[in-house]
Amino acid sequence: MIKENLIEVQKKIADACERTSRNPKEVTLIAVSKTKPNEMLEEAISCGQTIFGENYVQELTQKIEDFPESIHWHMIGHLQRNKVKYIIGKVDCIHSVDSVRLAKQIQDEAQKKDICQDILLEINVGMEESKWGFTLENIQDALKEISLFSNIRVKGFMTSAPYVENPEENRLLFRSLKQCFEETKQYGYPNVSMEHLSMGMTNDFEVAIEEGATMVRVGTAIFGERNYN
Ligand SMILES: *Cc1c(COP(=O)(O)O)cnc(C)c1O
Repeated sequence: MIKENLIEVQKKIADACERTSRNPKEVTLIAVSKTKPNEMLEEAISCGQTIFGENYVQELTQKIEDFPESIHWHMIGHLQRNKVKYIIGKVDCIHSVDSVRLAKQIQDEAQKKDICQDILLEINVGMEESKWGFTLENIQDALKEISLFSNIRVKGFMTSAPYVENPEENRLLFRSLKQCFEETKQYGYPNVSMEHLSMGMTNDFEVAIEEGATMVRVGTAIFGERNYN
């Protein structure tokens, strides 16, 4: 099933690119494998998928150990400051940086290891109380501080839009983040390159791509529903 699912998702990505005259190479598919067993990831890898997104530090570090170095990992879940040390330097990118304090912790740990860690800043565009992240209003103030952290590279923004029946309802949220992304590019902060806009999940990734996503994080459409028990 995973093979068929991946082909289907890739086709939808290609179609969304086609509709908006974008090059599909601009869009990276991150297969979100949280709670899923290694055998399922192996199946995806055998179909050519090499980039996986995980939410929980313990599960992520275990999977990093279990798989060869050719597999790339992205941390997409809420990250506690005391757990930064377990994943720093082991993941290509931390998408879920949602406070200046967390960014500072990543800076400190990266400096200790003398490395530079790519991150995205998470924006709560839907202003949902249940979600972490900066707002479109306070993100520039945060960037002024975070851009001074020389062992961090801010590569862009990430958001998780609300769950909606009709993904069209999220179009304007995606558009507002894209606009903020383009504006931020113009400000030219040090250590900030604004290359990636990580938005779109199973329910809304096609709309997100139409609105400029460069990374989509898709779990359910590839691996099926998650069982948290
Ligand atoms: C679980 C998760 C996803 C994947 O969600 P699906 O609806 O299964 O595609 C994407 N992003 C984040 C931050 C997640 O926690």
